[in-house]
Amino acid sequence: MTLEIKRLHLASLRGPDGLEWPVHGFVVIHPGGAALVDTGVGGPDQLLTDWRVVNTTAADALAGIGMSPADIGMVVNTHLHFDHCGQNAVFRHAPYFVQATELSRAKTESPELYDWFDFMNARFELLDGDTELLPGLSVITTPGHTSGHQSVVVTAADGSSDVLIGDAAYTPRVYREAPADLPDGQAADRGSWEQSLTRIRSAGSGGRVHFCHHTDVVHG
Ligand SMILES: [Zn+2]
Repeated sequence: MTLEIKRLHLASLRGPDGLEWPVHGFVVIHPGGAALVDTGVGGPDQLLTDWRVVNTTAADALAGIGMSPADIGMVVNTHLHFDHCGQNAVFRHAPYFVQATELSRAKTESPELYDWFDFMNARFELLDGDTELLPGLSVITTPGHTSGHQSVVVTAADGSSDVLIGDAAYTPRVYREAPADLPDGQAADRGSWEQSLTRIRSAGSGGRVHFCHHTDVVHG
């Protein structure tokens, strides 16, 4: 059985280069249910104003592919920035799979955001490293953008893979070239960020790489 990947357009925002960037989430349809990778933008009003966000509700985006929030049985957050976990609260019926190191990073680095998304009864399922969540659906640790960043690998029956890389690279150019002049915010730790790109290139070899903030799909 091949897992099916559907991309959601959840928002547009003003990127660090001053241009308009998309914000994507991805639905992975598997036998018995569906997982959502990243939930789009949310947070304190001031934050949304600063980034000039044009938002779409996750419910509206899901309706565009004939689904509703109730169809989502699990959420995976690549990391806990406001444009990746912003609508987690829509899915409070589902567990949120996140690296334990990422949750503690968010708590210390962005306490306001942490307080905002740590609503009552949030069901974080804390991961400690690479984990297979379901047959064919895994996360691999890809620190660098943040210390607890993870990427999602979807493996088809024929062995080909799709990698949903979150913010491990903002754009195909950054992914391919790892240029010296990175966009603001791309790598909190350049050394581990480059090692993570190597991991992703190997996981995505022969498959496809999907970006949160760019519409092109790169063939690995
Ligand atoms: Zn980010």
